[in-house]
Amino acid sequence: MKTFLVLIAVAALWGAMSASGASAGFQGSISSISSTLAKRMTGVSWRSGCPVPLRDLRVVRATHHGFDGRDRVGTLIVHRDVATRVLAVLRRLYADGFPIRRMTPVDAYGGSDFRSIEADNTSAFNCRYVDGTTRYSEHAYGRAIDVNPIENPYVGSSGTTSHAASRPYVRRTPFRPGMAVEGHALVRAFDAAGWGWGGRWSGARDYQHFSASGR
Ligand SMILES: [Zn+2]
Repeated sequence: MKTFLVLIAVAALWGAMSASGASAGFQGSISSISSTLAKRMTGVSWRSGCPVPLRDLRVVRATHHGFDGRDRVGTLIVHRDVATRVLAVLRRLYADGFPIRRMTPVDAYGGSDFRSIEADNTSAFNCRYVDGTTRYSEHAYGRAIDVNPIENPYVGSSGTTSHAASRPYVRRTPFRPGMAVEGHALVRAFDAAGWGWGGRWSGARDYQHFSASGR
């Protein structure tokens, strides 16, 4: 009888260990903007007069693969309307083994898109205009995500990039890790979510850019 009970205890422990092992892969959560985060964002990635109030934004935290093959936890700030969908995209990218260099809100780069790109940082919300205009970018609504911007540059219609490290990636072949390419994991994951891709624009192409509106 005693041996039997020990066996049950071992079996229960084994079960618990397998369960925790299984859940150690992808983890994701959606939460609202805390007061600490609101303070950090105000005057950096967000200011009063921006088209979306902080209460309509959400923090999506999720596990992703790094380029070194190790798991990391990253954060995207997006509109609450798209948070569940964005989390589903990240879950799919994790399952497909797609690598993301880093995923940190742009406040870590003083709200500078240029500096965030230089760090090959994947990011979403930033209350900013489309470059060279006074029209708000889809990022200002939290409905666009730039993924691995060094591997996926904005390429002007003349075929140039503003980031030296991106020059080898102006050519979209051969496929290299982290790239957004038609039919590959990244583009397929956003296709499944119904989002548009800047790599399909005519003229200037924004390979890093995925958005709910397609703009
Ligand atoms: Zn973008």
